[in-house]
Amino acid sequence: MTLAAPGRHDFRANTEVVGLCSDLLKINTSNPTHGERAAAEYVAAALSEVGISCEWFEPEPQRTSIVARLPGSDRTLPPLLVHAHLDVVPAVAEDWSVDPFGGLVEDGYVWGRGAVDMKGMVAAMVAVARSYRADGLLPHRDIVMAFFADEEAGGRFGAEHVVGTRPDLFAGCEDAIGEVGGFSHRLSPDRRCYLVSTAEKGALWARLDASGRAGHGSMLNDDNAVSAVCQAVSRIAEHDFPREVSPTVRLFLDRVAELLGVPGGDIDDLMDRLGPLAKMIRASTQDTCNPTSISGGYKANVVPSRAAATVDGRFLPGHEDAFARELHRLAGDRVSVETIFQGPAVESPWDVPLVEHMQRALQREDPEAVIVPYMSTAFTDAKWISRLGIRCYGFSPLLLPDDLDFTALFHGVDERVPVSALHFSVAVLRNLFDEY
Ligand SMILES: [Zn+2]
Repeated sequence: MTLAAPGRHDFRANTEVVGLCSDLLKINTSNPTHGERAAAEYVAAALSEVGISCEWFEPEPQRTSIVARLPGSDRTLPPLLVHAHLDVVPAVAEDWSVDPFGGLVEDGYVWGRGAVDMKGMVAAMVAVARSYRADGLLPHRDIVMAFFADEEAGGRFGAEHVVGTRPDLFAGCEDAIGEVGGFSHRLSPDRRCYLVSTAEKGALWARLDASGRAGHGSMLNDDNAVSAVCQAVSRIAEHDFPREVSPTVRLFLDRVAELLGVPGGDIDDLMDRLGPLAKMIRASTQDTCNPTSISGGYKANVVPSRAAATVDGRFLPGHEDAFARELHRLAGDRVSVETIFQGPAVESPWDVPLVEHMQRALQREDPEAVIVPYMSTAFTDAKWISRLGIRCYGFSPLLLPDDLDFTALFHGVDERVPVSALHFSVAVLRNLFDEY
């Protein structure tokens, strides 16, 4: 990878960010088996050392979130909320080529569970805050920094709790940046874009339950719970949800078509040119519902009285009710449908000053940078933050090697972040906070 010409900043944050990231990766914050307390204490200590204090939240033992504020030079401006989560998904050590909680720095990468999702961003936020103090400078506006627990399980002990109990900490904030976005993607030999999420699909996870007549497997049984659940699951899995292009996806497609020099291009043709990104972008053009587990029975010759399955549904903005109705219809009369988790879809406008500033902050470090909006299919803490009327953008800047399948690293084996990408992240955030 060739990095852009060095940016304007050559501050100590660049030497700190790798150590901060590595230290954070050594703290196992797997959700739900480990809490976030130790990581929150680490971040708070790094901020407190430069005179920044934190508000603490711990709705359950060890499930810790913290919120801090870095004052800006113009305190009349609305503060910018910058958020990241401290928890990670578990890692199966045997599958990895390195210790997922070793914080190894090797071959130009920092390795470990959470390197991209999203302790790298936590480290960059802390490094940037410390760099302001070290330089004796201030960001343009106040920066509210939130480090949340529990994002990977929906945010009940993290963002949902903090936003619900202390909305005053975010008073005046109009925009927020967090995950998932700001990472580079090589579109063509001379085009590198950065995807910024301006929308996020909603989530509806449900459990399907069937009860039937238990009995001997050798006899006739027209009330078989296993068969009822399987039929419901297969109807859901095979259903073709119609394609619908939301304003965000329209912008994405138009922008990409223009950058590739194929204006008015066919959607499927454009998708084919997106490489590994296509599996996510395609999913942002329709509702989806994947069966994720199925259970029932205990012996080959016994028909059980119950069987169950879970499905992971993701719906487009505005589809919340219609999607739930469709799921019930597909599930049919033989199974009950119970919602396990539901989070709203969110969509934020693209024509806001923050977006222009993000573009400029990136271009200072990477003159090739072009930002493109997209709809994230994952859910993030933006769900809870948007409840406060704050516009949410996925912007955790990373300049990645062209051949790295970034999307596969999320929750993947051998998760790692390039050292150069962390330096880039620090420089871009600092540019943004200096000028916005
Ligand atoms: Zn994440």
